[in-house]
Amino acid sequence: MSFLKKKEKRMKLYNTLTRKVDKFRPIRKRTVTLYTCGPTVYDHAHIGHWFTYIRMDLLVRTLEANGYKVIWELNITDVGHLTSDEDTGEDKLEKGAKREGKTAWEVAKYYEKEFISEMQLLNIRKPSYLVRATDHIKEQISLIQTLEKKGYTYKISDGIYYDTSKFKKYANFAKLDLDEQQAGARVEFNPEKRNKTDFALWKFSPEDQKRDMQWDSPWGIGFPGWHIECSAMALSYLGETIDIHAGGIDHIPVHHTNEIAQSEAATGKKLANYWMHSNHISVDGQKISKSLGNSITLKDIEKNNYSPEDLRLLVLESSYMTQSKFSYDALSSAKKRLEDLYAVSVLRYQANKNFKRQKVYLRKFDKDLLLAMSNNLDSPKVMVLLSEFTKKFLDNGINIKDLKEFNKTIKNMDELLGLKNVDLKDISIENKKLIEERVIAKQNNDYKKSDEIRNELLKRRIGLRDKETSNWYYL
Ligand SMILES: [Zn+2]
Repeated sequence: MSFLKKKEKRMKLYNTLTRKVDKFRPIRKRTVTLYTCGPTVYDHAHIGHWFTYIRMDLLVRTLEANGYKVIWELNITDVGHLTSDEDTGEDKLEKGAKREGKTAWEVAKYYEKEFISEMQLLNIRKPSYLVRATDHIKEQISLIQTLEKKGYTYKISDGIYYDTSKFKKYANFAKLDLDEQQAGARVEFNPEKRNKTDFALWKFSPEDQKRDMQWDSPWGIGFPGWHIECSAMALSYLGETIDIHAGGIDHIPVHHTNEIAQSEAATGKKLANYWMHSNHISVDGQKISKSLGNSITLKDIEKNNYSPEDLRLLVLESSYMTQSKFSYDALSSAKKRLEDLYAVSVLRYQANKNFKRQKVYLRKFDKDLLLAMSNNLDSPKVMVLLSEFTKKFLDNGINIKDLKEFNKTIKNMDELLGLKNVDLKDISIENKKLIEERVIAKQNNDYKKSDEIRNELLKRRIGLRDKETSNWYYL
């Protein structure tokens, strides 16, 4: 998008590190490095996860629209993520394996494949590096050795641990009250640990139990802790300091705090200049959890006749900084809004030289859309702009002289928001025929057929707007 000047100075992001909205200045002039904590592949991803990854995708798209090349690393956690933050629980992968009567390797492979294919369905950009923890055991061992040499580690009966009291800034990132945490330590606090916040870097395989995933190490057979994988893989692909590190808000007090402790103790450099966190999602007012039966997946949404793009539009409706709510009612409104937007896209068919010129408005719209996203991903503002845009064109039609500008706007919008507006060239003869058949069905008062065709067309991303009084639009 060439219409913004001094592009690199425009973006602003709320930075968890400074607790304010900071101007975004990457280390390199035109390239941005981004690390996001990826899925633990032991079960289906649910909408809570997808809200977060869609927001990461929107961040990538906004950076790109601002002229940056984005080097995005997303990890796949396929080992070592325990069910408890206290390092006492079960490995989620081994748990998944027991549940499904498969090996942990099979479970990881299955859910990784599903995650990637759903990512594609949701039109999430392909990361530059999509990396598995189990492919980087050597790097993790080497990072633990560096920490060991620098005196940050100690050994207890079940593994090698990080001594958080040695890292003076440990409490800073999450503004933790360590004294209170120490005093509040409950039964699950492993008494061999020196501090409650200490965490496992390498866990030994239990003697009485055969694990599917285990490796030899200088300390004994076992597997890496969850936190060390992100530190090791970020360091391997993006270097010592990353521009933006992003993830879910629940990672702040433990996972991200521990990543900072490990990486910064090892390198002596700041791990990331900006930390972006996506807030919680609730379903019908409740926290998403398996036991409540509300961990809705993308497949569930599709079974209920909603598209991945409907979900993307719903994600745009709330700021990533606030707690967002999911409900099928909200998804249904999102679907309606998207259908209207698609209907505007299809209006290009009926462009006419007598309609009002909108060239100036279109240019301003393009600019305002990018400015809203560049301002700390202000997606609620984007929704206001989209509503105005939709209303304006559904009410007034498109002047044929503005078509070139209009096509550019749709293209820019799709690159920025990933909503997959239909391209005119994608409207096939078959679809045109369907549009005409629907007109006839309506004229014959065959509403059933008319609705069926409408739904079929919507699946093909063709929105229709009924406006019978209009002298220009008869569908
Ligand atoms: Zn991570």
